[in-house]
Amino acid sequence: MKYDVLIIGGGTAGIMTAAQLVRKSPQKLNIGLIEPSEKHFYQPAWTLVGAGTFNMKNTIRDEKEYIPEGVNWIKDRAETIDPEDNVVQTQNGQQLSYDYLVVAPGIQINRDGIPGLAEALDKGVVCSNYTDPEHTWKVIKNFKGGNALFTQANTPIKCGGAPQKIMYLASDYFKKHGLAEKTNVIFASPGGVIFGVKEFADTLNKVIDRYDINTKFHYVLTRIDAENNTAYFKVNTEESVTPDGAIGEKLLNDKEVAIPFDMLHLAPPQSAPDFIRKSQLALKEGPSAGWVDVDIETLQHLRYPNVFALGDVAALPTAKTGAAVRKQAPVVVANILNLIKNNSLDKPRYEGYSSCPLVTGYGKMVLAEFKYNNVRDSDPLLSKFLDTAKESWFLWILKKYGLPYLYWNKMLKGKM
Ligand code: FAD
Repeated sequence: MKYDVLIIGGGTAGIMTAAQLVRKSPQKLNIGLIEPSEKHFYQPAWTLVGAGTFNMKNTIRDEKEYIPEGVNWIKDRAETIDPEDNVVQTQNGQQLSYDYLVVAPGIQINRDGIPGLAEALDKGVVCSNYTDPEHTWKVIKNFKGGNALFTQANTPIKCGGAPQKIMYLASDYFKKHGLAEKTNVIFASPGGVIFGVKEFADTLNKVIDRYDINTKFHYVLTRIDAENNTAYFKVNTEESVTPDGAIGEKLLNDKEVAIPFDMLHLAPPQSAPDFIRKSQLALKEGPSAGWVDVDIETLQHLRYPNVFALGDVAALPTAKTGAAVRKQAPVVVANILNLIKNNSLDKPRYEGYSSCPLVTGYGKMVLAEFKYNNVRDSDPLLSKFLDTAKESWFLWILKKYGLPYLYWNKMLKGKM
């Protein structure tokens, strides 16, 4: 079977691209979309599910409702890509050829990426909004005090703010339920700062003070011992580490520490999907090795000009979010339509826009919007009306009600 445009992945990026292609193309295109899942997930609300303030059921809908009319849904899994011959081979043995390929299979969660993680994850007091936000909520509700440890793997992750959003919500919950006095909330992060854009970091540091959160930067999670509720970290700093007796931290040698926990939330290790990493589309070396090697402004592959990538799988130096996809999809669509029409790329360029709705408590949110090089983006309409770097109830309402509505009814329909 041969398609004008073949799309791999029917998540946020794949569906937005397909819907916009259908709406914007002056001629009827033969579009195929490979997606194995019967369900489509609105992952941004998983933060709220983990805090017991959003129903998981409302984050899941049938994929078939969102496949745009006229697009052929290939319910299968892409397995290999041959960009020399313009062919994708699927798990069920289909050979699909294309004129243009859009690569959007998202990110892969690697449960085996940290010793002890696979055994521990989503059981007992170890939880993750990335894998089972309903379990996170159970863990938070059942927590009786002690060390509440929040951390994240030392790999690129989707929605880099998610590991701290759930921590602020949990801290607020502990405060409201009289647990704050007997709880140490600990944020052990491989990064060196709380957030890359200063204006937002300033607000978040105040939030951290308000909840009395114990931050530990340059802490890289190396092992989880779920039987003994202990997490092991390597500390990537020049200075020698002073163990924090207040939380029972133990020094194993001058660079390794063990922290006992009564609950642990983490963002597991993530990477580009294996079939992408093995393909000729992936960057082979450097810090972005494994991700799809695209021009960061046109989203066109740097070696195969009829291939585009967007969403979490693309090698782009910005935060991997659905909000970023909303700005990437129109660029991919315009560039493909221009190539079909004039055999040239036109003006649209992606400037690295991404945003992170940093929920800082029940009823409170900060909206971090930024572009490449961690430059705050003050262009979006919303920032003309309020300072999105300040905590606001209005932004919380936007997160809880506005954005899910816009996602299902506008973005996935190619209308924004
Ligand atoms: P996905 O939406 O994950 O879709 C990938 C699709 O590809 C899936 O449907 C999958 O089944 C399919 N696929 C995988 N392998 C194959 C294959 N071999 N062949 C064919 N199809 C395949 N973003 C925000 O903007 N704001 C937020 O507040 C926010 N919060 C988040 C909180 C959490 C806890 C999580 C987990 C994510 C959050 N995100 C947020 C991130 C956002 O969900 C992703 O960045 C976004 O979904 C990326 O879109 P995508 O299409 O690249 O990947």
